[in-house]
Amino acid sequence: MPVISSQKPYRVGRSKTGLGLFATKPIKKGTRIIRYFGPILDSRIPEQDDIENKYLFELNGRWTIDGSVRKNLARYINHSCRPNAESDVRPRERKVFIRAIKNIEPGDEINYDYGTDYFKAYLKPIGCKCASCEKKRKKLRAEARAEKAKAKARAERKPKKVGAKGSAKKKLNGHAYGKANGRARA
Ligand SMILES: [Zn+2]
Repeated sequence: MPVISSQKPYRVGRSKTGLGLFATKPIKKGTRIIRYFGPILDSRIPEQDDIENKYLFELNGRWTIDGSVRKNLARYINHSCRPNAESDVRPRERKVFIRAIKNIEPGDEINYDYGTDYFKAYLKPIGCKCASCEKKRKKLRAEARAEKAKAKARAERKPKKVGAKGSAKKKLNGHAYGKANGRARA
């Protein structure tokens, strides 16, 4: 047992795509869960504007939070297309909080929608792995399988064409075209 019991309602744990943030206590809809924090980058300063990593959280045209710092546990929260939390962005305070938009049960993975820009740049090319997209893919696969089975059943029900044109194979009058007669054994 851990010596220090955490008051925080979450922990970092294994998720399908690596690590994720999971609820350890019930979290009520509307609750502020965690702050997404890190150094504030100013896009007007070239060295700060040049910083590139996948934990950048843009507040507005000028300010961006660099969430890649280790203490920022909110960086472990994965994207979902049907999330149970959202980012509450406060550009004037230069703060971002992650807030529950559903009642979250212990053991549930916490996630929020990263937004269309991130989705297009990082998730669409590799295929989104969120539970909602996995479910959609599974459904599509099942539908495709069912469709294939139906088509197969239809094909089997059709009477096979016998005789008529089917058996009228053209014969070559015994000649094997293309073979150099007599040279094979020479
Ligand atoms: Zn998705």
